[in-house]
Amino acid sequence: MHIFAVANQKGGVGKTTTSVNLAAALAQAGRRTLLVDLDPQGNATMGSGIDKRALQRSVYHLLLGLAELAEVRAPSPAGAYDVLPANRDLAGAEVEMVELERRDVRLKEALARHAGDYDFVLIDCPPSLSMLTLNGLCAAHGVIIPMQCEYYALEGLSDLVNTIKKVHANLNRDLKIIGLLRVMFDPRSTLSNQVSQQLEDHFGDKVFRTLVPRNVRLAEAPSYGLPGVLFDRSSKGAQAYLAFAQEMIERVKTF
Ligand code: ADP
Ligand code: MG
Repeated sequence: MHIFAVANQKGGVGKTTTSVNLAAALAQAGRRTLLVDLDPQGNATMGSGIDKRALQRSVYHLLLGLAELAEVRAPSPAGAYDVLPANRDLAGAEVEMVELERRDVRLKEALARHAGDYDFVLIDCPPSLSMLTLNGLCAAHGVIIPMQCEYYALEGLSDLVNTIKKVHANLNRDLKIIGLLRVMFDPRSTLSNQVSQQLEDHFGDKVFRTLVPRNVRLAEAPSYGLPGVLFDRSSKGAQAYLAFAQEMIERVKTF
């Protein structure tokens, strides 16, 4: 079982779009996949076709030890993957977990009890370096960092890289950066191309080959409760995420 956190403390950089579409594409490729929604906004939940307002149990219950993983997971209606769904309840977990022991490894321990159930687990992290993200980073073997190729992208990156280094040193020796995924890419923009080149110069083969273009079909898909790769498979955005899934499948063979 390969566990990957999709993280970037900036909001709106494509974490959820990447998590949902990669989960759906891996499932289409026949991989048993679990998507964990660690964001109280519940966008990965809704984007997978699950109504966040109607949840009996959610990741909140799992983290607080009020429910077992098997009671929380739900199959995505459209994609052939499972979801640990989330909603606003999760915002309270941060505070309520303060009193709990081993609070940073709650998700890790829950997943460990189901290690045989999945080939891939993807964790959609919230836009912060909070206790929730820490649970994601402690549970994961690697981090996928989606980023837009814009002027300030590199600045925020150093904070995230430092956090990952600290978690690696103190809490999770398994953790490494799997790669940087360039998303919402505009090939006609000079700046996009410059920043993209800088990333390759600086991070080498830690930059995924796949480039995800800006594509309106990916943005439209969540309002239909569908991952983009199912909503319009032939769109450029969907094709990019299908290619990214293949790249990930190849990448894990080298582990
Ligand atoms: P995050 O989870 O990091 O906050 P999202 O995945 O929710 O980011 O993306 C932010 C917004 O950008 C959403 O409205 C989403 O639909 C849109 N978006 C993400 N990726 C793309 C893309 N490749 N092309 C067009 N729109 C995108
Ligand atoms: Mg998100």
